[in-house]
Amino acid sequence: MLNPIEMAKDIVVNGVLPDDERVWVPQAENVWFRPLCLSTRQGYWVNLLRVRKSGILSRHRHPAPVHGYVIEGKWKYLEHDWTATQGSYVFEPPGETHTLTVPEDVPQMITLFHITGAMIYVDEKGAVTAYEDVFTKIEMCRKHYIACGLGPDFINQFIR
Ligand code: FE
Repeated sequence: MLNPIEMAKDIVVNGVLPDDERVWVPQAENVWFRPLCLSTRQGYWVNLLRVRKSGILSRHRHPAPVHGYVIEGKWKYLEHDWTATQGSYVFEPPGETHTLTVPEDVPQMITLFHITGAMIYVDEKGAVTAYEDVFTKIEMCRKHYIACGLGPDFINQFIR
């Protein structure tokens, strides 16, 4: 059976946890992400988030669903009393605003996130301060991969 000609090319990432440190894109102090699939057609992205000691992911609101799987370590949201531990699955519903932190006793956490739409960064009153979408993520990656020597085309393998 022939595949449809419009079909996107598949993606296989061997070594989701990369040997080459340069694959991790700096996001904020003690926070990095590693792209896996960046969908410009459907407006979502799949990445690993890595947060090391005292890292924090600023308060943000999700207009669309997020799915997460904790590969290593643990983390929590300041706004919730539960903790996502290694092996946990997390669903973040549309409308949710939260701030991700890693406990002091955790040297590193790595979580796979599937994020649809955007991350809308907000202040304590909910006013928008910044946003990220699949296009700003691609731009961040491309800038970093040029700067670190992997080159401008390195990101293309993850874009569909
Ligand atoms: Fe979130």
